Amino acid sequence: MKSQNTVDWLTHRADVSPEATALIEAEDGGKWTYSDLDSAVEETAGRLAELGLRAGDHLGILMETRMASIRLVHAAMRLGCVLVPLNVRLAEPELRRQVGHTDLSALVCEAETESTACEISGDVPVASVDASTDATLGECERAEFTAKRWSHDDPQVMLFTSGTTGNPKAVVLTMGNLFASATASAFRLGVLPDDRWHLCLSTYHMGGLAPLLRSTLYGTTVVVQTGTGFDPEATLENVRRYGATGISLVPTMLRRMLDAGTISDSLRFVLLGGAPARDELIRECEKRGVPVCPTYGMTETASQIATARPEEAFSSLGTVGRPLVFTDVTVLDEDGNPTEPGIAGELVVSGPTVMAGYYGNPEATNAAFGDYGLHTGDVGYRDEGGRIWVLNRRSDRIVTGGENVHPGEVVAVLRDHPAIREVAVVGVEDDEWGERIGALVVPVDGETEAMSLESVREFCEGRLAGYKHPRLLETAVELPRTTSGTIDREAVREQLR
Ligand code: ATP
Ligand code: MG
Repeated sequence: MKSQNTVDWLTHRADVSPEATALIEAEDGGKWTYSDLDSAVEETAGRLAELGLRAGDHLGILMETRMASIRLVHAAMRLGCVLVPLNVRLAEPELRRQVGHTDLSALVCEAETESTACEISGDVPVASVDASTDATLGECERAEFTAKRWSHDDPQVMLFTSGTTGNPKAVVLTMGNLFASATASAFRLGVLPDDRWHLCLSTYHMGGLAPLLRSTLYGTTVVVQTGTGFDPEATLENVRRYGATGISLVPTMLRRMLDAGTISDSLRFVLLGGAPARDELIRECEKRGVPVCPTYGMTETASQIATARPEEAFSSLGTVGRPLVFTDVTVLDEDGNPTEPGIAGELVVSGPTVMAGYYGNPEATNAAFGDYGLHTGDVGYRDEGGRIWVLNRRSDRIVTGGENVHPGEVVAVLRDHPAIREVAVVGVEDDEWGERIGALVVPVDGETEAMSLESVREFCEGRLAGYKHPRLLETAVELPRTTSGTIDREAVREQLR
């Protein structure tokens, strides 16, 4: 998808519909038209230029989602800088490693992250933004600059993966990747002129950054919920108050919102991804009229790979639907050959949303790409109708007594146990068996006493082959998770050891 010399999306949007609402601040209802946002971004870009930033430079930002960080996202695009959003919730050694790896020309922070920024920056210059008054880079003058004209091959952002399977990797996404993702998503979900996307995912993850960029292309509105941590009550209230039509959530967020109250019927879709969703969650959405769209995506594919529309999610419980247009998913067996429908294997993705590579890591890039495209490391299958089902990660496979066990199939059975609310299944090293199957269980309220290895093994009788039954069991108040909400399997293993 080559196209030379396009202006940045906001410039185009401000020309076409200057009076349309670009952003609404959820806290006080403050509105920004595309023209307002464009002027603010022009000013921010001038200040970044004064700091010495030029096209091709890497701009790190260490901020939660705020008006100021949104301006920086667009200003980077205008200058032609590669945006490198850093996860404010990471520990200093992790951040230091990321800064050291990404060749930043500057790191922008806010008051709350300033001491961390100074600790991790090494010799990268740090600039601070006053997020409360929204005065971006307040001390700086503005320099003249020429807005960058983009080609689709130009890198636009570098985003770190969640680090579920190891150290987070820096994914380089081009303008073309982001454009293809925005258009393919629109073909699946539709875009209406009055759409309002409620943003509560952090913009240092793809699921939070994507709606911000897409909305500019679509000319729609983003309602911005600022602040740290997820507040289900505030989210329910803001979705209702601003009549949001779309929202992106990870399953734990949706669970908490359903528990906290009624979800506004203004929503056209609830994009649900990032981790497997329980069947029970999807069933509850159906019962309560929540238009959930289970989605499979990853940082390396600029978010969505496959998305099910609500009708499909309810009629084929557990599917993430068909791949988006332009995206191909091939399922490969252990020998690297495509499987028949219904047969599980590694999911391999190709198409215009697939990343250019991992920054500064040719070994990892080479290892990730094969004849059929990007090896996701996820195990799943497609059914006769072309729908995708994600089972688990390849690295999660348990080998016990020489037998392969996919934790997903054990989890699927245990979830139906009436006293189990949530469960994670992992392999725990064992001298005799290689690995033993361990289950960390969150019991439903009041059932902790009833939860024993024996009762769980009894439940598995007739439902799962004997070698797939758990041999270790612990209970927990909640499952340990990474900052992006995926299960921290190493921590689960630690609790079971
Ligand atoms: P790392 O690559 O550093 O180990 P990560 O893979 O968790 O971290 P992300 O890119 O944030 O980083 O997450 C993408 C992964 O999330 C997918 O590869 C998949 O394992 C998982 N995932 C996303 N959506 C779903 C889904 N609907 N069902 C099951 N798993 C999903
Ligand atoms: Mg990954």
